Parts: sequence; C-alpha cells; structure tokens
Amino acid sequence: MQFVPMLLPSLIQALANAIETDADEVTALDQAIGDGDHVINLQRGIKALMAQRDELAELDWVLAWQKIGMILMTEVGGASGSLYGTLFVAMSKAAREQPLNVQTFADIFSIGVDAVKQRGKADAGEKTMLDVLIPVAANMRLDVSDGLALIEVLENVARTAIAGMESTRDMLATKGRASFLEERSRGHIDAGAKTSQLMICALVEVLTKQLTAPA
Ligand SMILES: [Mg+2]
Repeated sequence: MQFVPMLLPSLIQALANAIETDADEVTALDQAIGDGDHVINLQRGIKALMAQRDELAELDWVLAWQKIGMILMTEVGGASGSLYGTLFVAMSKAAREQPLNVQTFADIFSIGVDAVKQRGKADAGEKTMLDVLIPVAANMRLDVSDGLALIEVLENVARTAIAGMESTRDMLATKGRASFLEERSRGHIDAGAKTSQLMICALVEVLTKQLTAPA
C-alpha cells in the first residue's frame, strides 16, 4: 500500500459520506444531551477539506496534517474544532521528528491523542471522543509492536472504535454541555464519540480496500 497523501481525496470523501449517512442519527444523539449542532459543525469542516482536497494531496503528510488541523480549527469551531485541530497539528509536529511508516504512525497518532487529552483537559471515561481515540491509539500501538499484519491492525482499529463509542452510552458526562444533565446523560451515546468512530471506520475501510486491491 502506498502510504502517501495521494490517498487523501478518497479519505476525505469517505469522511464526508460517513457523516452524511448517519447525520440524522448523530444529531438525535446530540439533541438528547448536547445542543444538536455537532454534525453541522463537523460537516462544515469536512466541506472545507473537500474544497482543498487536491491541494492537500500534493503535500507531504507533515504539511497536509498541519493544514488539515488549521482548517478544522477554523471551520469546525467550538470544542470539536479545537480538539480535531489539535490532533492533526500535534501529529504533524510528531511526524516532523521521525520517518513516517506504519510502525511510527501508531506512535504519532498516540502523540496526537495525548495532545487532545491535554487540550480538552479530559481523559478516558468522561463520555467524549477520547473514549474512542484513546483505546484506538493504545491498541494500535500494541498491535503494531506485536507485529500484527496491517490488515489485522486495521480490523482491530475499527472494532476498538466501535467498542469505545458503545462504552460512552452508560458513562456520566463530566465535560461539555452534557455534564449539566448529570445522571440524565447516562443512556445516550456521546455524539462526538459516535462521529469519531464513524470517521475512523470510514478511513479503515478505504485503507483496507487499498491494501487488498489487486496490484
Ligand atoms: Mg454543540
């Protein structure tokens, strides 16, 4: 598989499709315990990425992630924009300091997730996107260091993302608007965790197809 930004247009398209497909379901989740604007904010960011996808594909990953981070910060806005922006900007910084390959990607992604934790002053178990991102990063590092084949790493990433998203259902929200609901926040999946899972699974699907495509 070519691990180059040439794939970026199809990855961005996959994000757009994934969010579009489940937009109503996620908005219903967000209306239950948030203010219902999460999908619209995210779609504004993805639309901006779509508009720049050809330019992004010409960059190397360090520059592409930097630019994606800045676009998401500006266009998504709010907490999600700042957190996703931080993820990509931190990954860009980390990728500047080491060669990028499948092995180092797991470390680079983990550094990005740590930056999101710091920016959001949040950790696992608080009913946020981090309940997807943290276990995905941790399992990916383990799988890569265990020498699993890339296709298996990807399968586990998708499975871990889904489990992480599901885990937010019974959590008590302590961050964001949902925290005002206290006990009433239980019983609803977090919208941010849901969109993180949807996007991760969409990326995995594109990469898996690429990996299994006949040469
Ligand atoms: Mg909101």
